[in-house]
Amino acid sequence: MFVYSLKSFVTSGVSSRLKRCLSRGFLTSQQTQCFGTACTMEYEDFKDKRALVTGAGKGIGRAIAVKLANLGAQVYAISRTQTDLDSLKQQVPSIDTRLLDISDWDITRKAVEDIGPIDFLVNNAAVIKRTPFLEVTKEELDDQHTINFRAAFNITQVVTRGMVSRGTGGVIVNVGSISGIRTTNNRSCYGTSKAALNMLTMSLAHELGPKKIRANSVNPTVVWTNMGEGGWKDPKLKAAAMAKIPIGRFALEDDVVNATIYLLSEKSSMINGVILPIDGGMINSYL
Ligand code: NAP
Repeated sequence: MFVYSLKSFVTSGVSSRLKRCLSRGFLTSQQTQCFGTACTMEYEDFKDKRALVTGAGKGIGRAIAVKLANLGAQVYAISRTQTDLDSLKQQVPSIDTRLLDISDWDITRKAVEDIGPIDFLVNNAAVIKRTPFLEVTKEELDDQHTINFRAAFNITQVVTRGMVSRGTGGVIVNVGSISGIRTTNNRSCYGTSKAALNMLTMSLAHELGPKKIRANSVNPTVVWTNMGEGGWKDPKLKAAAMAKIPIGRFALEDDVVNATIYLLSEKSSMINGVILPIDGGMINSYL
C-alpha cells in the first residue's frame, strides 16, 4: 500500500515549490500547513501499471509524471527538450523519457505505438501565445491548435485503440484550462484549443465509456509555472487576477496533480466526462 505521506511530499520536491509560493505571497503559512496534511490519500491503482504523460519536461506535466512514478507506475514521459528529460531522469531514474515533438502527426503516432500498452494517459503538453485577436497569424493559430488539441486527439486515438483491443480499459485525463471555459484578453487561439480539448474529453467519455475507458479534464486557473509566469508577471495584472479567486491564491502544481491522480484512480470510477475547474471558485463568482 502506498501512502503519500509528508515525507514523500518533501522528498518529491513539492516542499521547495511550496516555499517559493510562500515567499511570493501566493500562500499563507497556514495554507501551506493545510496543504501538507491534505496529501495523505492512499492510492493502490498505479502499481505496475503503465502511464504516459505528455509535456513532462517542466511544470505541471513533470509534477504529474513524478507523482505517478512515486505511486508505483511505469511512467513514459514525453517532452521536446533533452535537458529537461535528463534532469527528470536524474530525479526519478525509473521514468522512461522520450524526446518527441508531438506536433508531428505521423512521427508521434509511431513513437506512441512503439511505447506499447498504456493504462493511464495524461494529455498535458501545451503552448500559449497571447495575442490580440485582430493580430493573430495563421502560424500562431496552427501552432496552438496542433499541439494543444490535435496532438492530444492523435495520441489518444493510438492509446485507446490499444486499450480497446486488449479489452483492459483505461483512463484519460486531459489538462485543459479555465481559458477553455471562460475567456479573457488575448486568448482566442489558446482558449479555443482548450475548449476543443474539453469537447474531445466529453466525446471520449461518451463513445469509449462502454469500452471501460473513462475520460475527464482538469482546468486550472493560473499556476506559477513558466507558462503561468509568462502571462501574469505584471504586478497589477497579477493582483487583479488573484482578487477574482475566492480562495485568495493561484493554483499550485500540486492542486492539479492531486485532482489528476484522483481522476485517474478507481476512487473516481463513476466520474466520466467531467470538465473540472481548479480555480478556487473563480468562475463560479459573479463579482
Ligand atoms: P510549461 O511549464 O510551459 O510546460 C509545458 C511542457 O510541455 C514543457 O515541458 C514543454 O516542453 C512541453 N511541450 C510543449 N509543446 C510540446 C510539444 N510540441 N511536444 C512535446 N512537448 C511539448 O506549462 P505548464 O504551466 O506546466 O502547463 C501544463 C498544462 O497546464 C498545459 O496544458 C497548460 O495549458 C495547462 N495550464 C497551465 C496554466 C498555468 O497557468 N501554468 C493554467 C491553465 C492550464 P518545452 O518547454 O521544451 O517546449
